[in-house]
Amino acid sequence: MNIPIAKPTVEDGEIKGIIEVLKSGMLAQGKVVEEFERSFAKYVGVDHAIAVCNGTVALDLALKALKIKEGDEVITTSFTFIATSNSILYQGAKPIFIDIDGKTYNINPDEIVDRITPKTKAIMGVHLYGHPFDVKPLMDICEDHKLVLIEDAAQAHGAECESKKVGGFGIGCFSFYPTKNMTTGEGGMITTDDANFAEKIRLLRNHGDTGKYNHTMLGYNYRMTNIQAAIGMEQLKKLDELNKKRRENAKYLSSNIKVDGLVKPFEKRSVKHVYHQYVIRVEEEFPMYRDEFMQYLTDEGVGCAIHYPKPIYKQQLYVELKCQASCPVAEEVSKKVLSIPVHPGLTKDELKFIVKTVNDVVS
Ligand SMILES: *Cc1c(COP(=O)(O)O)cnc(C)c1O
Repeated sequence: MNIPIAKPTVEDGEIKGIIEVLKSGMLAQGKVVEEFERSFAKYVGVDHAIAVCNGTVALDLALKALKIKEGDEVITTSFTFIATSNSILYQGAKPIFIDIDGKTYNINPDEIVDRITPKTKAIMGVHLYGHPFDVKPLMDICEDHKLVLIEDAAQAHGAECESKKVGGFGIGCFSFYPTKNMTTGEGGMITTDDANFAEKIRLLRNHGDTGKYNHTMLGYNYRMTNIQAAIGMEQLKKLDELNKKRRENAKYLSSNIKVDGLVKPFEKRSVKHVYHQYVIRVEEEFPMYRDEFMQYLTDEGVGCAIHYPKPIYKQQLYVELKCQASCPVAEEVSKKVLSIPVHPGLTKDELKFIVKTVNDVVS
């Protein structure tokens, strides 16, 4: 067997959609992008969705539209993909790294308030691995301290908190990279209920153009193409089904993996986890170290990955920039986590093989 850690589900619908766009001659941003934006906004339950060329750009534009600049601080999690905090650096602002909750691996709300200063402008939470962060406490902190909440929802399309979709609580930023819960090849989306904010993002996305080559501000070319949007339309139609499959796969893995010293994913009662990743934690009682176990799984043909091997502030760039923090939970967890396949393309045989390979470690 050779089971990849991630695999996009691309079928005839996506292929047909792309061919239609190619035949139409309207390849760049146009009607299909608008249709995708409307459908995505409706899905998330917000008034506006603005498509961009990738998820990193979604975060970047959200911060630019908020006028985050040099001298400002943005509070974020220490344990995420580098794009989250890089988007803060793009503005010349400083990321303030917060430790995580050891169960959900998300930003720990109890550690935020002490780190707020007059320079703090926003809190950027990440719905890591598809499990929503503690939305209510973060919204309350933002309200009390007049801060903006940004949701990095790049790993959590369709995830819910109290039956409401993520991306609808603050400013939502999504990615459609092929490993995510839905894809457009490369692509991103910003979601908001604020019409003025949405308009600002649209201008920033397209050279500040208000129409007919009238440029009102410094903008960029961060547009999505109709080709990408055609893929996105099909992916969005089946997102709930793909997430259902991920949840079923996760349930199967959690009920059948039976080895001491492996901590399985946790799902809070109030949320819907969409298992962008199925992450186990390899504890001391386990017969192998995490890296040994990873090598064993790889040798057996079970794709796996470490999300993430260190807290962001231990990455070289952040050390050089002196963006330091002390986050003992993130540091410990980064040495123990291991992602194994949970994607919707897994067959029953592959799932059985993963379980057997993991359980066989003891024998
Ligand atoms: C994937 C990802 C991004 C960036 O998205 P791209 O489309 O790859 O630019 C940002 N944040 C998180 C948490 C991600 O997983």
